[in-house]
Parts: sequence; structure tokens; C-alpha cells
Amino acid sequence: MRFRFDVFRRCARGACPDCGALGQLAGIVTIRDCCTACGMVLRRREGFFLGAMVWNYGLTAFGLLPMLLVLRAYAWIGFAAAVWLAVAVILIVPWLIHGVAWRLWLATYYGFLPEQLPSLGRPLDD
Ligand SMILES: [Zn+2]
Repeated sequence: MRFRFDVFRRCARGACPDCGALGQLAGIVTIRDCCTACGMVLRRREGFFLGAMVWNYGLTAFGLLPMLLVLRAYAWIGFAAAVWLAVAVILIVPWLIHGVAWRLWLATYYGFLPEQLPSLGRPLDD
């Protein structure tokens, strides 16, 4: 198995992982259900969204919350401010980066499993 960086880059830019049509994953908050250019289903069966949740959780928990810990550790913000900011980050950021998390999930999935792309034989309807 060889990781396909071209597919990863394509998805991370917001393009369709299969045909490369730009704007298919363009929403920051959400993505389309399927590609309007080639018909590839982007939101596949039940459970496929879990990968996007992992990216969303990872970016929030390991990307942003440690920054608050650093700010608090150097006493640049008070304890109450750190708690309020953490609550705000936990409630707002996952919603804001939903589309980005989907992009990264599709990029990871099809980067590792390019044979799952419809152009390489997978049916369009799942
Ligand atoms: Zn497409």
C-alpha cells in the first residue's frame, strides 16, 4: 500500500477526491453529499462520518486546547478566562471546522485507499 499524496492534497484543497473538480468540499462548515461533476458520493454509509469526527476531535483537543494550557501555564490569562475559553473552544470550534475535518477525513481515507475511488471501480451509490 502506497499513500497517495496527490489525492490527499486534492481533498485538502476542497476538490473532489476522484475527479478533482474544485469547490466540491469548499464549505468551511459543511460539505456536499455528492460531487456535482462526477456524482461520487462524499458522505457514504452510516458510520463513515466517524473519521471526520476523529479529525474534528483531534484538531480541537490536541490543537487548540493545549494552546490554552500554555497561555495559562505562563500566566498570560487567568484561571477563569482559561476555563471560559476552553468551554467556548469546545462548543464552537468543532462546529466551525466541520467541513475542514471532512476534507481531512476524505483526504486520509482516499489517500490510503485510492482503490475505493469510483474511477477505480467502486460503485457510486454507497
Ligand atoms: Zn467528482
